[in-house]
Amino acid sequence: MRIELAKHAGYCFGVREAVNLALESAEQHGAVHMLGDIVHNEVVVAQLAAAGVKVVRSLEEAAGAPVLFRAHGTPADTWEAARAQSLEILDGTCPLVSKIHAEVRELAHEGRTIVIIGDHGHDEVVGIASQVEQPHVVSSPAEAEELPRMRRVGVVSQSTQMLENVAAILNVLCRKVVDLRFVNTICFPTRRNQEEIRELAERNDVVVIVGSFTSANTKRLASIGATINERTHQVATAADLRPEWFAEAESVGVSAGASTPDELIAAVVERIRVLAAG
Ligand code: SF4
Repeated sequence: MRIELAKHAGYCFGVREAVNLALESAEQHGAVHMLGDIVHNEVVVAQLAAAGVKVVRSLEEAAGAPVLFRAHGTPADTWEAARAQSLEILDGTCPLVSKIHAEVRELAHEGRTIVIIGDHGHDEVVGIASQVEQPHVVSSPAEAEELPRMRRVGVVSQSTQMLENVAAILNVLCRKVVDLRFVNTICFPTRRNQEEIRELAERNDVVVIVGSFTSANTKRLASIGATINERTHQVATAADLRPEWFAEAESVGVSAGASTPDELIAAVVERIRVLAAG
């Protein structure tokens, strides 16, 4: 059985840099407090914990060691509170997330009502929303239908949104808004990974996506794969692989979410090799 690993499977550069910052800082300072999980992957969080990076849920808990702000971005009021407490801040915010923050502020500055296309309650969306006054967060075309008619609107999206969902929501907004300005803030690693998974799902008999079930972008990759190839499966680790998935398959395409570490992907590829040989 042929195994095709997507060229850019796994960590995007934003996550890789944030994880490296966490590890280097822990080595340098002995201990680092991380406000929330740095990436949505339990294995990475456990590895970081072993290196001295402790997850805390509030700034109060963070006192006593430098506090690391994660790749998805941190709400504006948390930044202010951390500064007010004179905490040492290690900024792991992905530059592409910071760019979304700047774009959305600019749209608000133009006097536009803000619509953020993204998942309700997702850390990155909460961070983007904190940059402006009273934005609308919309996750689906059905939710966009609920919005009132508006005159001037600025739209950005969460970096890991699916292009199809964003396009469908914009379609609805075009009917409701007179003056609409959309800044495409789906980040380029996400766009590239989504294109890769489409090609992978077309070319191979089976598709396996590696990543945590808490990771929005891993789940999106799996759902794109499944629309093209119904033999698409998501696994969190190699232990989730089922031998029957590969029955009579001649090829398997493997990809992974942006928060999946290289070792997990390698272990899954190795296990597929073993299953194929057996
Ligand atoms: S998914 Fe995109 S925006 Fe998010 S951390 Fe990775 S590169 Fe940055």
